[in-house]
Amino acid sequence: MDIAIVGAGAATVALLDTLAATAAQPGDLTVFEPSAHPWRGRPYGPDLDTVLVNAPPALMSIRHHDRGHYAAWLGERAPAHLDGLLGQPLVPRALYGHYLRHTAETALAALRERGWHVRVHAARVTAMAASADRLRLRAEDGHVHQADHVALCVGAGTPHDHYGLGAAPGFVADPYPLARTLEQVPAESSVAVIGSGLTAVDVVVSLAARGHTGPIRLVSRSGLLPHVWQRPLDHRPRHLTAERVRALHRENGAVTLDDLIQLLRAELDQAGEDFDDFAADLLAASTEEPGRRLRRQLAAVDDPAIGRRVLQETAHALGPYAWRLLPEPDRGRLRRHFRLATSLASPMVPVNARVLMELLERGQLTVAAGVREIQAAHGRFRLRCDDGTQSADVVVNAVNPSPQAVPHAAAQLVASLLAEDLAAPHPAGGLVPADPRLHVVGDLAGGGPFITSGILGVAAQAAGAAQAVLTARAG
Ligand SMILES: Cc1cc2nc3c(=O)[nH]c(=O)nc-3n(C[C@H](O)[C@H](O)[C@H](O)COP(=O)(O)OP(=O)(O)OC[C@H]3O[C@@H](n4cnc5c(N)ncnc54)[C@H](O)[C@@H]3O)c2cc1C
Repeated sequence: MDIAIVGAGAATVALLDTLAATAAQPGDLTVFEPSAHPWRGRPYGPDLDTVLVNAPPALMSIRHHDRGHYAAWLGERAPAHLDGLLGQPLVPRALYGHYLRHTAETALAALRERGWHVRVHAARVTAMAASADRLRLRAEDGHVHQADHVALCVGAGTPHDHYGLGAAPGFVADPYPLARTLEQVPAESSVAVIGSGLTAVDVVVSLAARGHTGPIRLVSRSGLLPHVWQRPLDHRPRHLTAERVRALHRENGAVTLDDLIQLLRAELDQAGEDFDDFAADLLAASTEEPGRRLRRQLAAVDDPAIGRRVLQETAHALGPYAWRLLPEPDRGRLRRHFRLATSLASPMVPVNARVLMELLERGQLTVAAGVREIQAAHGRFRLRCDDGTQSADVVVNAVNPSPQAVPHAAAQLVASLLAEDLAAPHPAGGLVPADPRLHVVGDLAGGGPFITSGILGVAAQAAGAAQAVLTARAG
């Protein structure tokens, strides 16, 4: 059997790890990746040390069903990266990239040892078609490759230029790697960052670390900052679990949002916490002054209440599975709370929250909601938000693409898949394979969750794809 994988980011690492653990018969495996840093994908390439992983180790293991795999790799490296408030190591994302590379190389070595022929082809795949009994891939360098199964692991998109700022001087269209893009930002310049999510936090923290002295303004539609991680507790959900959701699905043939809310309510009841107070506090996020909310969040890092912890863990561990079972109207209900859900499911790490708090207190950082217009004129930018019109010397685009956006590097390939009827667009975005030999892994998978997948979700999906390939081969 010949397997081709398009892209070499975290999803591919998880796929290789599962193949190495479970594939009995040898085969051929080719990975296509144009980047000079395979296995790291977009987030985990070389960058500043201030660009940190956004989650504690138990949520960053690329080995499906082994939450301790990454922590074990970290080993003695961990103490040097301890976030004192969280009590957990939070390493630079570039170091996490070493973990991914190490895991991939270990898997490839294990496969080779068992007789697999493994190649990494350093080129972008631009087209795919079905021939009589195989799938034919064409790479940018003209190379043509035939495979029995193809896994598309091309990741998510890059930030969209919502305000048409294009090549305007002073506009940073894609912030990563910050080591390169912030070089162009003079320390005393006024900087507007479009977005207020985790990418915006990376930008602010990295500007501060470089000694930026000019004003920094986060401008977004919601003005909502990510919540702040709380110190992990030993608490394991007993109600909001995959087993309970599976049982509900079996019994009722469906799982609704109200079912999930009831499970969360039961979880809180059991811990002696009031669900209504908890929900009211979450919903207040959209109206509470961002600095005040951030201060409260920082003060609550050690708070033993389990509510947010349960939501943050289940968003990534259970969320992708539960999402697929929800009826479309319930998905719509959740999508209406997209900003809040994202700020909860993808919280910032306390060490970064502290930096933001200091900058807010000093008045160097401000957060503006209701951004309507950003225009480039005479080498500067004019921004119109709820609180009036302001100007900036530099604008950094830190908006998050929607999870199912097609990455630029995969646009031609996706167009060819649609033209060849190998895949169809999902009504809510993303791709659905129309051929059993094609597997879509990661955020591009149609029907996937409305929030960006974390490592756990990506690893689970990739393990599923590896199993599907191996089952097809055995059948
Ligand atoms: C900036 C950022 C930070 C994040 N931080 C965290 C975090 O701390 N914790 C967490 O749990 N999640 C985080 N995430 C979520 C992230 O989605 C996952 O962690 C993970 O990186 C997704 O892996 P992937 O393999 O699907 O995509 P990617 O890692 O993006 O890899 C996709 C790869 O496909 C390649 N590719 C694309 N098109 C083609 C083509 N046509 N031919 C060949 N190759 C192609 C790309 O070059 C890339 O290397 C972060 C996401 C971003 C964007």
